[in-house]
Amino acid sequence: MKAVYEPEETERRWRRRWEELELGRADPSSAKPAFSIALPPPNITGSLHLGHALNAVVQDSLCRFHRMRGFEVLWVPGTDHAAIATQNVIERQLAGEGSSKEAIGRQAFDLRVDAWYRTYQGRIVEQLRRMGASCDWSRERFTMDPAYVRVIRTVFKALYEQGLIYRGPRIVNWCPRCHSAISDEEVQYEEQIDKFYYVRYRRADGPGEVVVATTRPETILADVAVAVPPGDPRFRDLLGSELIEPLSGRLIPLIEDQAVDPKLGTGALKITPGHSAEDFEIGHRHGLPVLTVISLDGHMIAPDFPDLDGLAVAPAREWAAGRLRDSGALLSDEPIVHQVGHCDRCGAILEPLVTSQWWVRVTELAEPAAEVVESGAIKFHPPQYREQYLTWVHGLRDWCISRQLWLGHRIPVSTCANQHTFAWVEEPERCPVCESSELSHDPDVLDTWFSSALWPFAILGWPEETPELARFYPTSVLSTGRDILRLWVARMVMMGLRFAGEVPFADVILHATILGADGARMSKSRGNVVDPLEMADRYGADALRAWGASVAMGTQDARFDESRIDGFAKFANKLWNMVRLLRLVHFPAGQPGLIPKAPEPVLRELELADRWLLSRLTGLVEKVSRAFSEFEFGAAVDAIYQFAWHELADWYLELVKERLEAGDEVALWITRSALLTTATLLHPIMPFLTEALGEQFEGAPASMDQVGWPEVRSEWDDPAAEAAMGSFQDLTGQLRHWLQDLGIQFGRSASRVPLLVSSTGSDLAQPEVLRYLERLAPVQWVEATVGDLEGMAPLVVGQSAIRLAATAAAQSQQLKAKMSRELDRLSAFRSSLETKLASPFATSAPAELVARERSRLEEASRREALLRDALEI
Ligand SMILES: [Zn+2]
Ligand SMILES: [Zn+2]
Repeated sequence: MKAVYEPEETERRWRRRWEELELGRADPSSAKPAFSIALPPPNITGSLHLGHALNAVVQDSLCRFHRMRGFEVLWVPGTDHAAIATQNVIERQLAGEGSSKEAIGRQAFDLRVDAWYRTYQGRIVEQLRRMGASCDWSRERFTMDPAYVRVIRTVFKALYEQGLIYRGPRIVNWCPRCHSAISDEEVQYEEQIDKFYYVRYRRADGPGEVVVATTRPETILADVAVAVPPGDPRFRDLLGSELIEPLSGRLIPLIEDQAVDPKLGTGALKITPGHSAEDFEIGHRHGLPVLTVISLDGHMIAPDFPDLDGLAVAPAREWAAGRLRDSGALLSDEPIVHQVGHCDRCGAILEPLVTSQWWVRVTELAEPAAEVVESGAIKFHPPQYREQYLTWVHGLRDWCISRQLWLGHRIPVSTCANQHTFAWVEEPERCPVCESSELSHDPDVLDTWFSSALWPFAILGWPEETPELARFYPTSVLSTGRDILRLWVARMVMMGLRFAGEVPFADVILHATILGADGARMSKSRGNVVDPLEMADRYGADALRAWGASVAMGTQDARFDESRIDGFAKFANKLWNMVRLLRLVHFPAGQPGLIPKAPEPVLRELELADRWLLSRLTGLVEKVSRAFSEFEFGAAVDAIYQFAWHELADWYLELVKERLEAGDEVALWITRSALLTTATLLHPIMPFLTEALGEQFEGAPASMDQVGWPEVRSEWDDPAAEAAMGSFQDLTGQLRHWLQDLGIQFGRSASRVPLLVSSTGSDLAQPEVLRYLERLAPVQWVEATVGDLEGMAPLVVGQSAIRLAATAAAQSQQLKAKMSRELDRLSAFRSSLETKLASPFATSAPAELVARERSRLEEASRREALLRDALEI
């Protein structure tokens, strides 16, 4: 073993080894219990970012943990065609060549897309491999694969024939730049300063007017009514009258509708169904017409006003405000800060426009999707997302699934010359009704989320009754980012229930979002983006994984912190060196060979350190097993780190070094077990390192994935040993400080300081403690009687008092001052506990809380008495 752990060589070697072993390959015919995960398919054109890396760690840890626990694990990888994103990239490429998709035509465009997919297919999947992901690579899926496309068409056709998909004009978020409808969830709301215009609408048949406040005077030409709250006395006299639309002089009705908020603006709302989703609903309720004055490319359609016609929206607004001002219809304007929807792909301001689109009628799908979460069949981690999910699912409106793109899954609907419209799975040549071969296909493509909603069952071979589907559906866990809770998670639940007949997964993990080191969202323009592969190159994929695991579930926003990744790289090296130390015990001259297997010795008459370490070790197994089961990856990493570094290395190995060198079988066996168990527990998170550690031991299997998960050994549980070692550690720490306070340098003092011990409380009762202290501190113990100790500087630890002989006198004043400060603190703490226990807390709080406070009081009182005694107050 080299003196320093080298992640690069190890990771390369073990990636190859895992492929040879087909580690991730799942066998649907195995008798083991099943555990499965559908990898959220990253965009095919993308490259791995920190969010993907974090998500890969979560999923890979769970897969390895379950493999080690004897499950048949299936983790299906794949990619998404990402219609809008990919089309944007290719369009930019074409523009760079001075061309466009219209110029090259649909067929050439499709070829170009295929070539693009071939180039990028698998790039991101390769990057996931680099992170150590143990997917079943033989089952990689792509949402454009023919089999996948069949699933999409099958689902579409079924929903269409069940009347749950329809085509019709409705208002959508329209991106005038992408020339496509955008789903509600893809709208980016940004705060913006605009103007609120107060515009008067005069009564047509007499005196009176209604004032309306609007941010969009350019849409007045499409107004079809003014609405006021029902029964509002401010407008009572005007009801039944018509109003004059102030730009073109059309007559429009004054109506009452409960959707109008009397406190907002002037309490009166102009109704423009063609350009506002809310108004569209109101107009629909009152049977009002829909007028459109903005085109699909975001320009005004106003042939009656030649200087307005064709203007973009922003100058059109200026034009309308000017005209209203000139005619006296504009009362005033004032600045307003409000949220404006932008396209999350291209950043353009979205226009609510009425277009003919395809829709999914969601009510029938949403109800069962809410029920399975209410009943607990699907659980969210962290649990706060349950409410968000339910609120959203309960408020769902019909889902617009058509996009006016070239790239994507064509809507599988055709119409014949005789106007028969039908959905299909295989591209048809004739109309199934009249046999006409004159067919026109729908030009739109499907929303990408429609295809990804089918992912968990589509990748397992549905609609065929495949062994994979029978064995691995429902999947066990879905791990993803919170930003697609609605876009994706809820829709998978709806489709899974409807078509596969069961929930698509039992547990949903929404992992943390990684922010830049500066605490802001990572973005290219801020320059705070971190490339995970660069981190893996610098510190090893394992160190990045360990950091990812430690932040995955802690808080929902985790700042990037390179120093912590570095910390885990050092931890890897620390473990490496502990195993190396054990090797050197067996092969002091550096001979080749494996750390030999040894049968478990009879663990009788163990000394304190041994009993303590075994007790800590079995506690660690329990803690880490629970942490993985509860998706608390950070707790698992922390517990392993603390044990390996601060218990095994800092204390146990220090105390048993000589026994190891002398070949003490018990110490060797315990050290070997502790190191192997640590490596085993850490394997799901740092798999490369732990493989490299495992292969140093005789009898290790081909991969640590095949090592059984460690059992909890309750017979090793030893609270007394833990308490005694706890006091000993405490005592050692204080003794070191004390000696430092007295100016006795550690490690430099050639001679040992004689210490007198008296009043040996239970802390020091363990025979080993004084011997251990002598090992770890430059002291020598002298048994003393109380009389010997007078005038000497005391040290009070736990329940024991120790006095320093010889050098003490000079420094004792300084020490006494320190102790009396400690005494003050302790008295205050004790009296606060007394007050608390005299209050209603003692009767109303849970019994175990009260008991804990009582034992804290007892301990504080004991220590206080000891200190008082030592200070002779
Ligand atoms: Zn756009
Ligand atoms: Zn027909």
